[in-house]
Amino acid sequence: MREALEQARQAAALEEVPIGCVIVHDPTGLIIGRGANRREMDRDPTAHAEIIAMREAAKHVGFWRLVDCTLVVTLEPCPMCAGAIVNARIGKVVYGCRDPKAGAVRTLYQICDDPRLNHRAEVVEGVLAEECAEVLKMFFAKKRQARATAVDREQEEHIPGTNEQ
Ligand SMILES: [Zn+2]
Repeated sequence: MREALEQARQAAALEEVPIGCVIVHDPTGLIIGRGANRREMDRDPTAHAEIIAMREAAKHVGFWRLVDCTLVVTLEPCPMCAGAIVNARIGKVVYGCRDPKAGAVRTLYQICDDPRLNHRAEVVEGVLAEECAEVLKMFFAKKRQARATAVDREQEEHIPGTNEQ
């Protein structure tokens, strides 16, 4: 999870919503995929951290099936990513904090271990949850502050006299 958090922090530095993901190859313990959210940069609605990490991992093993792998992500995966996790046959999903607005592993849906689907992943939630949530909270607080400052400046410019020295 520390590595996933590092990916999230790198995303924040690039003005992307900070979500990070790594994929661990269980038999060797090696990280074979890394991903950070790059939706803005790539102008791609599917450029979530999990998707990027899974693509890299599949390239690494040379196959789309990632059975012997654990996906570790800072925020609970959304429906798209949870679906991709099932499609990739990921063995285990570990995530930090829940996502009340899009969480599809526990919060809104339980896609990763729904018995009706053809694959179920083991799910572990709440790993370093507070730290994972903090990275997101700080990012949005900073954004709000930047917006408020911009509005203040705009208002200042519209108040007669404030620009004059
Ligand atoms: Zn997603």
